[in-house]
Amino acid sequence: MFVTILGSGAALPIGARRCSAQVLNIAGFKLLIDCAEATQDRIRYNHLKLQSLSTILISHLHGDHFFGLPGLLSTMHLCGRTEPVTIVAPRGARQVIETTFDLTGNHIAFPIDWRELDFDEGLHRVFECRRCTVDAFPLDHSVPDYGFRITEVPPVSARRAPLVYAYCCDTAYDERILPHIAGADLLCLECTFSNEYERLAAERKHLTAGQAGRLARLAGVRQLLLTHISARFREPDLLLAQAAAEFENAVVAADNMRFEVGVGRSLPLPQPSDNEV
Ligand SMILES: [Zn+2]
Ligand SMILES: [Zn+2]
Repeated sequence: MFVTILGSGAALPIGARRCSAQVLNIAGFKLLIDCAEATQDRIRYNHLKLQSLSTILISHLHGDHFFGLPGLLSTMHLCGRTEPVTIVAPRGARQVIETTFDLTGNHIAFPIDWRELDFDEGLHRVFECRRCTVDAFPLDHSVPDYGFRITEVPPVSARRAPLVYAYCCDTAYDERILPHIAGADLLCLECTFSNEYERLAAERKHLTAGQAGRLARLAGVRQLLLTHISARFREPDLLLAQAAAEFENAVVAADNMRFEVGVGRSLPLPQPSDNEV
């Protein structure tokens, strides 16, 4: 299981960091998690085949997590897609996409299996296939927002505990999520601010680096991956140090980084394949 970071920045797509998107690869099955502007460019840059994506998880409808979706679906259609796509997203996403396509005269020929999220407590199974299960839980943000706990379904012959990847972006500090992220092999948490901005983080319902580290420690995860880095922090050393003061095994995400879940090492960029679509 490995994750490719397509965008590791917060709201502004500037500098070396684009906005939130990543692809989790589970034994060849790919999940797109969040879809900011420019996601399809980053998919191509990382030699991930667009048409191999059949499941998309959207945490919330803020533009820096969602505004790439109409363009990505449109490109899938233009490249001849007929296979269905499953989209797990907060309530309202379907209306936004359908209205956008209706009013602009664009069209999608392939079916979309919409699974809209509309609950404010607990852990809910929202997707399963032969490679993984996905459970969603609410986060504390300024709009309805969900975290995801993704558990691999190991082959019958494998005698090890299944790997777990947890993703929480964006959220204020909230210990109610601890049971849902507990024991994850890799926890990807937003880390918008340094500790000096704790008040601003609370106002805007984001995490500081220290809070992210504390959640990782309290949840007993194996490794912490920090993402959604504010454009204020060109060099992430301060964020890493502040998170590591609470939880040592922390890494700051970078765009186009591939990271192996449960092993904790970066992988090189893959070579181009014959068919990039
Ligand atoms: Zn965001
Ligand atoms: Zn947000």
